[in-house]
Amino acid sequence: MEIAIIAHDGKKDEMVVFLSQNLELFKQDHIKLIATGTTGKKAEDLGLKVTRMLSGPLGGDAQIAARVAEGKTQMVFFFRDPLNAHPHEPDIMMLMRQCDVHNVPLASNPATAELLIKSIM
Ligand code: PGA
Repeated sequence: MEIAIIAHDGKKDEMVVFLSQNLELFKQDHIKLIATGTTGKKAEDLGLKVTRMLSGPLGGDAQIAARVAEGKTQMVFFFRDPLNAHPHEPDIMMLMRQCDVHNVPLASNPATAELLIKSIM
């Protein structure tokens, strides 16, 4: 199962907490993690194996959106920062739209992530 993790700068600390709380789950062999560049680095620092895409503003969200469209990614944890503007807003919208188009579960905040992760425990 391929799972994507993405966190905007204002949400990276919360992503680190979420990953830390679910480290054993994310380390399981049947789970393949992919991430945008900087988020992926944070996950690697926790000891997780991650396939890193480009950083979000450089196209990482778009790459992950493409994987969702192709049926390669089955779940997305995308901690968005709603209080700041992002230069790659169109890519962010594309990722969320592709999740909706292809009915792929998407958690855009930690509270939803907590509920979603329970579904694969
Ligand atoms: P980052 O990208 O993980 O490379 O910071 C996240 C984003 O801004 O979409």
